[in-house]
Amino acid sequence: MARQAVQFIGVNKWFGSFHVLRDINLDVEQGERIVICGPSGSGKSTLIRCINRLEQHQEGRIIVDGVEINDDVHAIEEVRREVGMVFQHFNLFPHLTVLENCTLAPIWVRGMPKREAEALAMKFLERVRIPEQAKKYPGQLSGGQQQRVAIARALCMTPKIMLFDEPTSALDPEMVKEVLDTMVALAAEGMTMLVVTHEMGFARQVADRVIFMDQGQIVEINAPDEFFGHPRNERTRLFLAQIL
Ligand code: ADP
Ligand code: MG
Repeated sequence: MARQAVQFIGVNKWFGSFHVLRDINLDVEQGERIVICGPSGSGKSTLIRCINRLEQHQEGRIIVDGVEINDDVHAIEEVRREVGMVFQHFNLFPHLTVLENCTLAPIWVRGMPKREAEALAMKFLERVRIPEQAKKYPGQLSGGQQQRVAIARALCMTPKIMLFDEPTSALDPEMVKEVLDTMVALAAEGMTMLVVTHEMGFARQVADRVIFMDQGQIVEINAPDEFFGHPRNERTRLFLAQIL
């Protein structure tokens, strides 16, 4: 049997006394595209941040590409090498050029020679269709361009899994499509993706399964046709009625 990309087994997490993730069970296959939606504060970011240990779970097991995430720093490093993440607010280094943003981790984490790292970065900047911006600083780019740099930067670490946390929600409407198009292309290449987004057009087009979260629980998980056509849960229906 093929190894699961990500497994959550009975995962619970608290922030102090606040129970933020409740009994999460989820198997993500390699190459699968998962879209996660749900109201603000339902635990979506916390869920995906547990995958690369930006947040720590207290109960249950999380296994990423065969490696269980626990307090073992080597396991965490191993997982972080396999997992790329793109945030709502691009988190680019403002004092580094686009190219330097992309080569930083390959050079300093992977020990890649600078020349090689630059060639790799250019390949991914071409992939996200902004090679001509390589020498500019993030502040000189539009939001959509900056987010595409953030995607290229993550890809420069050749991850097996990509996590996206509301990658388009900080963008002006006219820039949403260029970022979604980049993500659609990545999906078409077979990347395993977990995407927190309320872009339901993207979910319909790309997702293998859509998850609805509410109050720390996975309330519903289904193929997009079923999810949008016949939501089973009342809370899902209410949510979809609000955003569609
Ligand atoms: P979502 O991404 O679905 O909006 P989050 O996962 O960011 O939700 O947050 C879920 C809940 O956990 C929210 O109520 C939020 O206020 C709370 N929370 C998030 N991060 C922390 C933290 N570091 N400390 C305490 N509470 C937090
Ligand atoms: Mg969030």
